[in-house]
Formats: sequence, C-alpha cells, structure tokens
Amino acid sequence: MNKHELSCYNTDASRLFGETEVVFFPKNVTEVQAIIKEIDGAIVIRGAGTGLEGGCIPEKSSIIDLCKMNKIIDFNPLKMQVRVEAGATIKELNEKLRKASLEFPIYSSENEISTIGGMIALNSSGARSMKYGNVKDWIEEIEFVNGKGELIKTTKADLMDICGMEGITGIIVSANLRVAPIIERSASIFQTDNLSEIFLIARKIRSEKEVSMLKILSKNVSKLLGFPEKYYLIVEFDSYRGKIRGEEYEELIRKLNNITRILISEGYYNSEDPKLFFDKLKEFVTFLEINNVPYFGDLGTGIIYAFFKDLEDNKRGMVRTAMKKLKAKFGNYGIGILRKDFLDSFDAKIIQRVKLRYDPKNKINKGKMIDIDFSIGKTEDSDSKRKEEFKKEIQEMIAKEKKSEKEKAKIKDASEKPSDSNKKAEQDLINSIMTNRMNNNGGKR
Ligand SMILES: Cc1cc2nc3c(=O)[nH]c(=O)nc-3n(C[C@H](O)[C@H](O)[C@H](O)COP(=O)(O)OP(=O)(O)OC[C@H]3O[C@@H](n4cnc5c(N)ncnc54)[C@H](O)[C@@H]3O)c2cc1C
Repeated sequence: MNKHELSCYNTDASRLFGETEVVFFPKNVTEVQAIIKEIDGAIVIRGAGTGLEGGCIPEKSSIIDLCKMNKIIDFNPLKMQVRVEAGATIKELNEKLRKASLEFPIYSSENEISTIGGMIALNSSGARSMKYGNVKDWIEEIEFVNGKGELIKTTKADLMDICGMEGITGIIVSANLRVAPIIERSASIFQTDNLSEIFLIARKIRSEKEVSMLKILSKNVSKLLGFPEKYYLIVEFDSYRGKIRGEEYEELIRKLNNITRILISEGYYNSEDPKLFFDKLKEFVTFLEINNVPYFGDLGTGIIYAFFKDLEDNKRGMVRTAMKKLKAKFGNYGIGILRKDFLDSFDAKIIQRVKLRYDPKNKINKGKMIDIDFSIGKTEDSDSKRKEEFKKEIQEMIAKEKKSEKEKAKIKDASEKPSDSNKKAEQDLINSIMTNRMNNNGGKR
C-alpha cells in the first residue's frame, strides 16, 4: 500500500483526520486473533467508514479493515436465518437474500455500502425502524474477537456487550441474523402549509400495524427534491393500502433515498440526529423552521435529521441547545469521538466497565465513545462504595422513570381526547391521506 492509499484511512464520513500507521486486511478469524495478539499499540476497526461521528479515525493506530471478510457463510431460507461475515455490505447481503424473496429489513437506503459489522457496532436503525426496530432486534448470535485475542460467541442475553458498543469491546467477525420476507409496499402522500396537520395525522396513524414509515420533509427539503414547497408527510404501508404503488412507488422511494446526497451536494455536510418523544417533535421542528434549518425525519421513531453548512456553527450550537432542553437522545449516528461530551456520566461508567472486561489494555478503538478513567475502581474500598453508588443511582433512575411515565400518560390522555367539534375535521384529514397525491406528479428533478 502506497502513502496515498494509506492516507485514505486517515479519515471517514465525519471528515475528521488522524494518522494511520499500517492497515491489515485479515481473511479469517485466526488472522484477526493473530493481529490482536501481536500488535501492542492502538488498533482501529474499519467497516465502510461511513460513520459520521469519527469512530474510524486513527491516532497513529493500526487499522483492521474487514473488507476481505465479506462472505455469506450459511443461508437457510426455510429458517429465515443467515450467517454472514462482518465485512459484507448490506447491499451484498440483500442482493443474495432477494433471490429467495427475503431481506434484512434494517438498512438505511441512503447508504447501502455500510458493512454488517459497522451496523452492528452502531446498532443502526433504518428507514422502517418504527416497525422493524434496530439491528439488535434481528441478531441471533454475534462472534467477535476481544482485546485479548479471544473468540467470543454472544447469546441474546449479552448481545449489548458488543452490539452498539462501537467496536470498543472487540472486533465483530460474523453474525447470525434473522431475515424477513420482502413485502409489496405502497405509500400515500399528504402535503400542506400547516405543520399542525402533519402531526395530527402522524399521531393518529403511527400505531397502525401496516404503517412502516412516516417521513416528514421540511418545505426547503421538499423544494430541493423538486416537490412543491410544502410540508410533506409520506406514509409507507407494508401492504397495498396506499395510493402510490408499483413503479410510481419505487420512484418515490428512490427520491427519498437520495435526500442526504442532495443536501450534501448543496453544501449541507453536517447534521444532527436527535431522537425525541413524539410530544416534543412539533416544538423541535418549529424551532428548526424559525431558524431556517433544512430537515427531514421519521415521526415513527422520533428521529429528526437537521442539516448545516460548514459556516453555520452558531446555528448548529443553537439547535444543540434546543436538543438538550427538549431532552433529546442520540439518534443513530453513535457517539464516536465527536459526541463523547454528551454522554451521561452514569452511562460512561457502565460502558467503561464492559469495555475493560473485554479489552483491559484499552487497545481497540481507544478514545472512541469514552475516555478511559483508570482511577475508577482503583481506590481503597472502592468496590463496595461504588456498588452503593450504583444502587442509589439506579434507584433514582427508576423513580425518575416512573414519575415521567405517569406524566407522559397524563399528557397522552389529555392530547388524545379531541373535542366533538374537532373530531369530524380530524377524521376528514386522516381520510385525506389516502387520497392526496403530489400536484405535479412528484416534480421530477
Ligand atoms: C449518507 C449517509 C446516510 C446515513 N444514514 C444512516 C441511517 O439512516 N441510519 C443509521 O443508523 N446510520 C446512517 N448513517 C451512518 C452510518 O452509515 C451507519 O451508522 C453505518 O452503520 C456505518 O457502517 P460502516 O460499515 O460504514 O461503519 P464504519 O463507519 O466503518 O464504522 C463505524 C463504527 O463501527 C466500528 N466498526 C466497524 N466495523 C466493525 C466491526 N466489524 N467490529 C467492531 N466494530 C466495528 C468502527 O470502528 C466505528 O467505530 C449514514 C451515513 C451516511 C454517510
């Protein structure tokens, strides 16, 4: 590998830069184990490098690139399970599954080059996650090599020691995944100048079984896609209930899959992905509108993607403050390097414990997700003291959770009881989603 090729590993989709020492391309588990045992310095794991928070950025590190471990090891269509190596991309996997009319349903169609390992490491979600959940919901077993070079097989009980841990506990080498039948889908579109109508409809239909996607587009994003400049709610059904079907449906989905790329081509390189309770979404989206921030989002999972140009740090800062105020959680980009400061200190302590159990020398993905504080657990009497602290923190968390559940239930009750006079108007709106179509046939770009 020449210097130029090596430098490609210095960065990822976060656009941060580091320094790569050497890149390894293991072909099997034994080679991964040998690398871990032989290398003393820092090691960074790399899938497709599409992570947005700097999870693949090296610090004079060795890189393990899993692209040569991309085989489908075993496929059992009858059991609807597939065992796949971590370096396979979601596109490669779904191409193979499609021949048996099956699919792995968690994928971001905007980004088909993501690897299975990267998706498991980030516990990614996809466009249809309101119905299909996250990657973890489809995993039967993961095999990974920990920081000591041992091969570990997880059961469902300890899946989260590796899934969602952004590679800090080990290198995922393969996984046994459940898959689903491909479904003939359809969609309906509702467009309006009144944001309240979007949320009214979404609230009413979000718990319907057939609804697999509830996508909101801001006016400026609609315009960029070539649609009339209005708010859009695009409802996808896992059935033929929607009015848009067949080729017209496929074209709509292709268009939606292109949103991020179109925004990037307009200079919107940076984004936030807050996840909010449904009741907070309208307030957040209104804040984005006032500040002229382009966004699209998924009202089913509560994740809103807000976009910024390079010179819009102030605007981004304001949006982050609003996210904090509304108690937004991380959506699906992960923590990486860029969001370590947002991690709750209690969560960081727990993550550190798990990390050090699997990687006591802090070799793998050092500085990602958390900075290890080796003083934790080293002081006199620390164990019993920390157990007490944890117990107290957990009790406080449970009490808080119970209180907020009660409050949420009250708010829900109040908001879901429309007055008689509003009932008919609401029903008319809900019905309209089945009949509304785009004015200009999707306004092809
Ligand atoms: C245009 C665009 C759209 C996107 N849309 C979505 C979306 O809708 N939903 C979503 O969830 N994400 C989305 N993302 C973020 C990202 O693509 C996904 O999170 C994806 O799952 C990352 O996969 P990757 O193979 O590129 O991982 P990488 O970027 O290579 O790695 C991500 C992290 O996982 C670790 N890792 C990689 N492979 C392994 C392994 N085998 N074992 C252990 N750790 C490993 C890396 O060290 C790093 O910390 C998007 C990104 C882009 C650029």
